[in-house]
Amino acid sequence: MDVRSTRFLNRLRADFPVEARLAGTRPAVQDAYGAVLRHWIDHGRAPVASVIDGDHRAVLDRLDLIVATRQGLGCYPFSSAATGIEVVWGRYAVQAMCAVDALAIPMLVERTCRIAARCGECKAPLKWSVASDYPPAAASIKVRYPDPGDAGAAHCSEGLCRGIDFVCEACVGSEPANLMGLDQASAVARAFFGFQRRWIDKPAIGSPAMGDHR
Ligand SMILES: [Zn+2]
Repeated sequence: MDVRSTRFLNRLRADFPVEARLAGTRPAVQDAYGAVLRHWIDHGRAPVASVIDGDHRAVLDRLDLIVATRQGLGCYPFSSAATGIEVVWGRYAVQAMCAVDALAIPMLVERTCRIAARCGECKAPLKWSVASDYPPAAASIKVRYPDPGDAGAAHCSEGLCRGIDFVCEACVGSEPANLMGLDQASAVARAFFGFQRRWIDKPAIGSPAMGDHR
């Protein structure tokens, strides 16, 4: 990973320490988290809130590890509310929490995905494919990471995520300090959400329920 990617990864982990927050919870809460995440990966849609215990749900919500909406339970990188960033694989189409999150989904579902979004500046439609194991080829598209912004939002999805978007080639402008190439942003996404993939591959011992919410 290059210097710029490492810098953005460190910022993201400091701004939104998902992996560290989850590691600090009880095993039963971690299992509930795994159930929500696996539902998204296996079914390409949000699980209903009742898929996990209400107490576990409250803990995960308070830590901003899940985001409950009327459409079900969101779980970064997957949003249960519309965000305008669509990720499609097979017969599934989901919304990603933000631009970096979208780039993690091919790794998590282990499929080539098509991403459809709009430039955060000019709103031009952007579409390209990302293989599960290869950097994206749409080199002209950049990912923007905002300066420290809305720290008051209860959920990252309503704060930081709203500022992490895609920018088209024409709108990149002369201040690239906050921009990553798609290959760099993809590396950040895979590193940030890599713990989820490892978890799915090797669930914690004693958590058979993780795969059973079908
Ligand atoms: Zn643009």
